[in-house]
Amino acid sequence: MENCLFCRIINREIPSSIVYEDDEILAFNDISPQAPVHILLIPKQHIRSTEEITEVNKQIAGRLISAASEIARQKGIEGYRLVFNCGESAGQSVFHLHCHLLGGRDFNWPPG
Ligand code: 5GP
Ligand code: ZN
Repeated sequence: MENCLFCRIINREIPSSIVYEDDEILAFNDISPQAPVHILLIPKQHIRSTEEITEVNKQIAGRLISAASEIARQKGIEGYRLVFNCGESAGQSVFHLHCHLLGGRDFNWPPG
């Protein structure tokens, strides 16, 4: 989709540090890391947020999560956090579905 930052990253119009790619998803380092490991996993299909996950496309959520856990395993991270911010009030700033993989430090609960 035009003017979508993450679609432009998928199309290589904007450079990124890619850590994993397959036919359906892309994973790359966050430009402003909030932990020693901070990777974003996104579907190649433009989906705005978890609000747009439906019966038809729900398998992509599983793909994102299983790829995130595989990357964490390969990086030898013991505990990690997966975050989907949905909506501005939850902190979503890029409206192309993404899963944050955060690891390499301890995390507090409840989150801020
Ligand atoms: P959100 O706030 O929507 O949950 O997460 C968006 C994430 O995208 C943020 O963590 C932000 O640092 C990251 N981000 C924003 N612009 C870019 C960019 O141009 N390249 C990369 N790699 N990450 C970005
Ligand atoms: Zn997009």
